[in-house]
Amino acid sequence: MARPIDELTSYLATVYDLDRVAAVLTWDQRTYMPSGGSNSRAQQLTTLAKLGHQYKTAPELGQLLDASEASSGDLDEVERALVRVARRDFEQERKLPSELVTELTHVTSVANEAWQAARATADWALFAPHLEAIVRLYRQVAEHLGYREHPYDALLDQYEPGMTTAHVRSLFNELQAGIVPLVQAIAQQHATEDDKPLYGHFEPAAQLAFAWRIGGEWGFDQQRGRMDPTTHPFCTSFGRDDVRITTRTFADYLAPALFGTFHETGHGLYEQGIDTRLGRGPLGRAASLGLHESQSRMWENLVGRSLPFWKRHYGELQAAFPRLNDTSLQQFYKAINAVQPSMIRVEADELTYNLHILLRFEIELQLLEDTVAVQDLPQLWRDQMEQLLGIVPRNDAEGVLQDVHWSHGGIGYFPTYTLGNVLSVQLLRAAEQERP
Ligand code: ZN
Repeated sequence: MARPIDELTSYLATVYDLDRVAAVLTWDQRTYMPSGGSNSRAQQLTTLAKLGHQYKTAPELGQLLDASEASSGDLDEVERALVRVARRDFEQERKLPSELVTELTHVTSVANEAWQAARATADWALFAPHLEAIVRLYRQVAEHLGYREHPYDALLDQYEPGMTTAHVRSLFNELQAGIVPLVQAIAQQHATEDDKPLYGHFEPAAQLAFAWRIGGEWGFDQQRGRMDPTTHPFCTSFGRDDVRITTRTFADYLAPALFGTFHETGHGLYEQGIDTRLGRGPLGRAASLGLHESQSRMWENLVGRSLPFWKRHYGELQAAFPRLNDTSLQQFYKAINAVQPSMIRVEADELTYNLHILLRFEIELQLLEDTVAVQDLPQLWRDQMEQLLGIVPRNDAEGVLQDVHWSHGGIGYFPTYTLGNVLSVQLLRAAEQERP
């Protein structure tokens, strides 16, 4: 007779496969799919999501979990972890009423379109009613999922299991106290020409070839992964042996192809590095988004912007782009590490980046607590930007409307970026201590 754990493992592999199939469709949607395909693709993805939800909440899964838990004395470490994580997923999935899930899917898909229009015209009023609906639904999600101290805990926990609002708040207090005075001091003595060497003509194909070669040197297995062009770079995985990174180039600006690709390569290395024993099931996923981000930020910032790295590779970069022959290694190093308060989070430098996250974290808390009205967010955003970074957006497109996350319902997601930054530094320091 098959052991319950073996049946559970095989059941969870089916669920995993459904999710990976959806990932293939999403990757294609965001890289090569012709725009005419968008309706049928949305239908296919909805069908897969429905099937996945049925599998993830089926009574049969509950029985397999019960039986596996009853025989947990016979399980090895990996099997016990599998049962623990699968149990957690199962309980979470079942806590949300299906009408709420359906309403969320609908509200966020409409909201995303409204957000695009609102951002294009810098018109907050177009998006505000949608965000009000999203916040109202996510308060319900938090109540269904349950939490100990703050409703935000429930949302944060979906991306960063076990993390609490109180913990994130104390982390931000420490970061803010250290970073704000540093940013002010740098802003006063800043030379705005610092990053000039990164602008000018750079052949896109050569940018991609350079970044791809570096990824290979870092251990990204090019037989188990690919790189393709997209508008908003991301990394996705169809399993540890087929990991897709995406990137974009600008013919007149070198930084995005370099650091964007380094970033996604870091995500890709994490996916390719998952232990084969954890493979086809919930243990084959990232442990948390913060951990995932720690790998991308480590390769992008701690390695990719470091002097030792460029001492080794700057000659190759100059060979690919002879216009850099007039830029010394020191000048280049300074260019890629320029610090300057700026409006847009995704373009922010390493130092100011976490302040952009802090701003969003505080706004999300106030939204869930109902201590700020959605219509007042643009003003709150401007006030906070001035306080944290000393600059004020000229309009809402470069202010409160800049990020896609809220329109997708991604409340509780932003702190994982800062957790990733902090973890990356801790991990690199530990690695340096172990192997100086
Ligand atoms: Zn990332």
